[in-house]
Amino acid sequence: ALIKSGYETLGQSQCNIHLVTYYDDVDFLESLVQLPVYAIGLDLVSGSQNARYVCEHGFPDDKVLIAGLVDGRNVWKADQNQSQAMLRQIQNRVKTVWVSNAGPLSHLPHTVSIESKLHPVLQQNLSFAYEKLDEIAGIGSGDARSNDGAPLDEIRTQSSVQSRVASLQASDFVKPESHDSRKGRHQSQLNLPLFPTTTIGSFPQTKEVRQKRAAYRRGDLSEADYQSFINTQIDSLVTFQEDLGLDVLVHGEFERTDMVEFFAQQLDGIATTQNGWVISYGTRGYRPPIIYGDVSRPEPMTLREIKYAQQQTDKPMKGMLTGPVTIIAWSFCRNDIPMGDVANQIGLALQDEIRDYETAGIKIVQVDEAAFRELAPIKKKAWSSYFDWAVKSFNLTVNTSPDTQIHTHMCYSEFGEIIGYINEMDFDVISIEASRSKGDILNYFSTVQFSKQIGLGVWDIHSPAVPDVSKQLDIVKQSLTHISDEQFWLNPDCGLKTRDWPETKASLQNLVAAAKQLRESKVAVKSAVR
Ligand code: GLN
Ligand code: ZN
Repeated sequence: ALIKSGYETLGQSQCNIHLVTYYDDVDFLESLVQLPVYAIGLDLVSGSQNARYVCEHGFPDDKVLIAGLVDGRNVWKADQNQSQAMLRQIQNRVKTVWVSNAGPLSHLPHTVSIESKLHPVLQQNLSFAYEKLDEIAGIGSGDARSNDGAPLDEIRTQSSVQSRVASLQASDFVKPESHDSRKGRHQSQLNLPLFPTTTIGSFPQTKEVRQKRAAYRRGDLSEADYQSFINTQIDSLVTFQEDLGLDVLVHGEFERTDMVEFFAQQLDGIATTQNGWVISYGTRGYRPPIIYGDVSRPEPMTLREIKYAQQQTDKPMKGMLTGPVTIIAWSFCRNDIPMGDVANQIGLALQDEIRDYETAGIKIVQVDEAAFRELAPIKKKAWSSYFDWAVKSFNLTVNTSPDTQIHTHMCYSEFGEIIGYINEMDFDVISIEASRSKGDILNYFSTVQFSKQIGLGVWDIHSPAVPDVSKQLDIVKQSLTHISDEQFWLNPDCGLKTRDWPETKASLQNLVAAAKQLRESKVAVKSAVR
């Protein structure tokens, strides 16, 4: 009713109003097409109901239908002949049809033409924003071109990967030992204090780090020199964390441009671009990789750095991986391979990486699933099938030795709606945002029987402000009403890549001090009771 009255008001203006919808089918098309607007845009790529509706019911003669026939969110060339066939079908029922993109082109990089390192077969199959404009023009003018490139499947196939996924059994997704039974062994192995402290993985990426990485990529720095530079960064970070008194250390991710591109560069079946920038948030950009084939790990991806880091300390060093869902969410993916299969391929590659960690003596591994909520479909009716494969791919990834303590990290997620699914993920510790919601987020965890551990993000790393001890304690105390002391960890609410060293040091000092105070108050309470 609100939409109707809003558009009735707008409809009284002198402008031609184009009401453009995208990303999915519209469930109330019958009402939508009645609105007093000049044109209505429908996404004819993402769902199938929009097209079916128009073909069955037609469209008002006094309105223009803007047919979203070219995918605005994915990088694959349109089959222009097929799009044109659909256009003709629609034209049989609709008086005036315009051709357009099905969704904003801001999801795409500018142009494929400036990429010089992609496999030729892949390049022939790609279409970024500029190329999409040609497709729109081609379909609209009736001058459709067929894709004369070689089929993508020519470079897809790794039958060994496909058969490994095909032969997965239900037991591959379930650890033989539950969290409750693993917990005690982890504790005797790790010997962590109450309210253990850790970080999410990355530390400030200074200009020097970025310059060295770029020099190495250009070939101006030898692999040996680059690795020894990374080692010096790890060395000083280990000392820094030990001096602060953090309980579980990280290696700092200095070798990673970003948490998805780095893995994409190591994995077979995923391409990365030189210039394929898109906006992620605010003014930040990233280059989404392109998953074009079967994904596998030709060799260990992160083992060298993690192993080296662990050798520098007696404290536990957390192995650091990006999970399958997040790799898929922040990449372009094929439309003709089920995402769940791609996720399992990536999951198996990551599982092999964790096994390598275990052989190297790593006791804790974090699998980041920052985009776990973000990739969920817009419509809730599609949630259960999405979360089904998403949860499974996580559980497959971490189905290694029960002796390894598994952490996961999720960024700002609206946890309330997905807490049931999160609870099906077989991690031991989850680190989450808590500073903005002041710990209220934990209300949700008390609605399910959450027996695992939670790392509370008591420092909002999106701001340079240094949270003082009392502010961090407030968040913890608020949350302690929902969850028991033994389940708690303290950490920043995300990676520290974008922060500077001074605020990092000050904030982490406060975080360690907050944990210390909490421990002391618990000891005091216990002896008072005695
Ligand atoms: N481990 C990653 C980091 O610390 C996680 C980043 C994220 O959640 N976006 O940078
Ligand atoms: Zn995060």
